[in-house]
Amino acid sequence: MTSLQDLPIRDDLRGKEPYGAPQLDVAVPLNVNENSFAVPADVVRAVQESLAAVLGDLNRYPDREFTALRERLAGYLGDVLERQGGGTDRTSIAPAQVWAANGSNEVLSHILQAFGGPGRSALGFSPSYSMHPLITTSTGAEWISVDRADDFGLDAESAAAAVRDHDPDVVFLCTPNNPTGNGLDLSVVEAVLAEAHGIVIVDEAYAEFARPGFRTALTLLPDHPRLVVSRTMSKAFAFAGARLGYAAADAALIDALRLVRLPYHLSALTQAAACAALDHAPSLLANVDRLVEQRDRMSRALTELGFRVVPSDSNFILFGGVTRPPALWQALLERGVLVRDNGIPGHLRVNAGTEAETTAFVDAITAAVAADP
Ligand code: PMP
Repeated sequence: MTSLQDLPIRDDLRGKEPYGAPQLDVAVPLNVNENSFAVPADVVRAVQESLAAVLGDLNRYPDREFTALRERLAGYLGDVLERQGGGTDRTSIAPAQVWAANGSNEVLSHILQAFGGPGRSALGFSPSYSMHPLITTSTGAEWISVDRADDFGLDAESAAAAVRDHDPDVVFLCTPNNPTGNGLDLSVVEAVLAEAHGIVIVDEAYAEFARPGFRTALTLLPDHPRLVVSRTMSKAFAFAGARLGYAAADAALIDALRLVRLPYHLSALTQAAACAALDHAPSLLANVDRLVEQRDRMSRALTELGFRVVPSDSNFILFGGVTRPPALWQALLERGVLVRDNGIPGHLRVNAGTEAETTAFVDAITAAVAADP
């Protein structure tokens, strides 16, 4: 049998493990920050109709420029900006400023293919989303990791200093940050933009779950042609299975991404499903408040059990004070609850679920702590 070692694989891939959280068949999966609520029946019907309308045309390639989808995404982002009260000249995003791909992972990959690559570098503030370094190095660029403060915070001064010291081609800011859950003050993004010579990516995958007061980096787009804000339909929109991520930036930056994407990267099915879903955005987003409620309930329960909870702007919580994370992870699994060990010493991560799932988690961790205090 041929093994991977026998293949003439790229030297930088030799010995590497594929990314991926365990996909286990458990009663309560709370490990990949999905939205636990099923797609509502009215949206299921709308998506079915939208898919049915394109099935007969699958002999043709899809719209390479995903025009209808771009318009809807621009509309949604315009609504987000309007709610933030950005001022009339700052509340609109043009379709030409919007990009989309199969998940925001692919969006990030397009950005790194265009602006990273051999001889270049990207910098991020750790711990953060583990795909950022993998996407960077897969283009041949160097990854520069700068540590966050002990409480996982990041202030404007130290972020700017790191960018000044390393002068990377790309900077990643993740807000709210995965796996720590906390958001960044917009002053941090502004400080990094003032210092950076390259592209600044603000990964806002979880923005819809943020606490009041969170300000999106979308408001900074008019003054910053090298800023790109990425988002996803995988979390708040409860549409992870459809694989649709998107980004907003200056139209010229978006144009650069067209140089690296594979032709027709978004299938007609994906475009049709996402368009129908966006037409029903309020229905899909209706459960965001319920998830936030469960997140806060979980946070109170964990605090009462003596764990240290990192304040969260996302649909998940990182909690510290765990003596042996692998042992607690296993004890929860044995009680039917799957959480995530991101390898941060003394910490585990869990996402909010439905009320019943969250109760199952709280009961399981209470029992696990009682069994092994
Ligand atoms: N960014 C962050 C911070 C994430 O946590 C995730 C998913 N875990 C993604 C991007 C990618 O999500 P998707 O590809 O499903 O849009």
